[in-house]
Amino acid sequence: MSDDELRPPPIRPANWVPGTEAPTDEDIVSCVSCGLCLPHCPTFRLTGRETASPRGRIAAMRAVAEGQATVDATFRTMMDECLACRACETACPSGVPFGRMIEAARAQVEATRPAAQRGPRAVGLRIVLPRPWAIYAAAAALGIAQALRLDRLAPASLRATTPRVSLGRLVRPLPRAMGTGPTASLLCGCVMDVAFRDVQRDTMHAVAGAGYRAVRGRSGGCCGALAMHYGHPDAARRMARQRIAEFETADVVVVNSAGCSNHMKDWGHLLADDPEWAARAEAVAVRVRDLLEIEVTPRARDLGPVACHDACHHVNGQALGPDLRRVVRAAGGTPVEVPGGGRCCGAAGLYSVFEPELSAELRRQKAEAIVATGAPVVAVANPGCAIQIAAGLRELDAKIRVIHPAQMIR
Ligand code: SF4
Ligand code: SF4
Repeated sequence: MSDDELRPPPIRPANWVPGTEAPTDEDIVSCVSCGLCLPHCPTFRLTGRETASPRGRIAAMRAVAEGQATVDATFRTMMDECLACRACETACPSGVPFGRMIEAARAQVEATRPAAQRGPRAVGLRIVLPRPWAIYAAAAALGIAQALRLDRLAPASLRATTPRVSLGRLVRPLPRAMGTGPTASLLCGCVMDVAFRDVQRDTMHAVAGAGYRAVRGRSGGCCGALAMHYGHPDAARRMARQRIAEFETADVVVVNSAGCSNHMKDWGHLLADDPEWAARAEAVAVRVRDLLEIEVTPRARDLGPVACHDACHHVNGQALGPDLRRVVRAAGGTPVEVPGGGRCCGAAGLYSVFEPELSAELRRQKAEAIVATGAPVVAVANPGCAIQIAAGLRELDAKIRVIHPAQMIR
């Protein structure tokens, strides 16, 4: 008999939902509980709780996999409090792949979450995000509410971290294409496309200036990262297939959001169970380029000091920290390090919505660290981080401009 045949089948908890994904036994046992990741974990640093640490979370995943515990409220809280920032993965000497483990654990959590909580999340992640028209309808409704100042009725914490939608910009489409050279298709995405339309335009200019024919992607075409991070892998696969079909003819796919580029480079794994789509996914994934990976044309000017904020999915998922500094230098700025720079700002997808207190504390710490640099500008290459950091700086009444690298190099 082979080793695989001898291995006992995984035991699933009593409230297991068939078909739901879970962290694999191989990944779970790769953690040796050494604790070296703990000082790098923002939620452990904030709370001091083992249950808010990577080691504690993996122990909980193991207890569930072995049938010693169920996916209950305690397990849900432990997984919900995780930022999925992957700082633990970068720090781990044993190579524990925590990123995919927390995504699988979130799928377990989502399948057993009470319906009153699951419903609204499912509407956003499964119904709105896969449909560009629904993204635009939701953005337009938000923009109208903000224009009429109805958003004042929302809690202050939610208002602070909700992107501002300009109706004028929303109805002004991006150019279809610009520049000449190999085709670089821009992922338009969800939040970037409705709340950061100017950054999209500047990204196309920057890419065209780097010698590509920059082509606008499908407006509102979401990559599926948020659905994956929040426990809906089937919805994430659906969106991945949509985008793969969209990008198959591109020479490169340019992405100006850290979370999206990181997720898209992993599409081959996401669709690994489907041989035809796995091959197509892999072929597109290897052509995905974060904007920071594009060799931009240097500018002869002096923009002065620029604080560099490292998005988690740049430094932990893609090791692009040096590239942010290279782009800032190319734009004419002088990179300035933010104290504790690799630590998550607390944006983490929808974390500020679902875990407002932990998120607010991380936001305050990050804003104070940026103020301490003395730089008048901070470069931020991820929409969630940009919204969160701008809110943190407003709360401190700090007059520091938050700018996407695309806006510096256009
Ligand atoms: S995740 Fe890695 S660093 Fe953290 S306890 Fe496990 S083996 Fe140690
Ligand atoms: S992903 Fe981030 S918040 Fe979650 S356990 Fe790892 S370091 Fe902590």
